[in-house]
Amino acid sequence: MTQPVDSDARRAIAPVICYPVETLPQPDVSVMTFRRGRMQKSAEVTVPPRDARCFKVPAGGAFRITCIDGPQVGDLNLWSAGDLRERFYSGKTRALHGTHLSKGDRMWSSFPHLRPMATILEDSLDWYGIDPFGGSVHDVIGTRCDPYTHHMLSGGHYHHCCHSNLTRALADETGLPMAEAETHVHDVLNIFMCTGFTRDTGQYFMKASPVRPGDYLEFFAEMDLLGALSACPGGDCSAEHSSDAAACHPLLVEIFSPENPMDHWLQPASNGYDRSHGR
Ligand SMILES: [Zn+2]
Repeated sequence: MTQPVDSDARRAIAPVICYPVETLPQPDVSVMTFRRGRMQKSAEVTVPPRDARCFKVPAGGAFRITCIDGPQVGDLNLWSAGDLRERFYSGKTRALHGTHLSKGDRMWSSFPHLRPMATILEDSLDWYGIDPFGGSVHDVIGTRCDPYTHHMLSGGHYHHCCHSNLTRALADETGLPMAEAETHVHDVLNIFMCTGFTRDTGQYFMKASPVRPGDYLEFFAEMDLLGALSACPGGDCSAEHSSDAAACHPLLVEIFSPENPMDHWLQPASNGYDRSHGR
């Protein structure tokens, strides 16, 4: 294919960051950490391999997801506990914070709210950084493994993809019919998963997660949250998912709640845009 004479010059233009972080509302991590120190553990949920479980976290509380048995990735969905229509917005979180999340980054909610749902307080894999392949952990670039893509690419009906696990867990938690619960399942935060894009073809890749038993990711809840976590059938995602082939392990979710009623946390206000959309 012929290239324009100025092709090199066009490619040489320096990129511009889409969303400057200078004006992004920042969490007061020191206040959150102080509050975390006053919390008490109030519940825990063990997520079985190739399955999912729901959990609730009060505003001003915290939750910690821990690898407890063997290398395992988890697919996390979050909703406002009072309104399932407000849910984690993976794509905008990616645009604001980058392809992978770590300490101090926030999980933002869907339009019209676009407000922080949770802030990452601790990440024991923070040391990993970006590896020579361009891979890193806790991505917001993947979606979730699902039976539809699997059926399209490989045929068959595999029922323990994260999408189905999350759907069953939400249906059990809410009493919604499966078909309705499914509509609330959304693109995830891929906890502990190591992913990136190949530099030559731009394809989404995964590789064995560096997570080991004892590693954890901890969040401060900025609103009353309903969460669902799936222990991905891919295990450490070193080879394949959407099958029972990989070694798969449980994950632990621990909930921490403010002990003192004085520690009431006011959730962030919804986005201030007037929603008239030019009409
Ligand atoms: Zn999965």
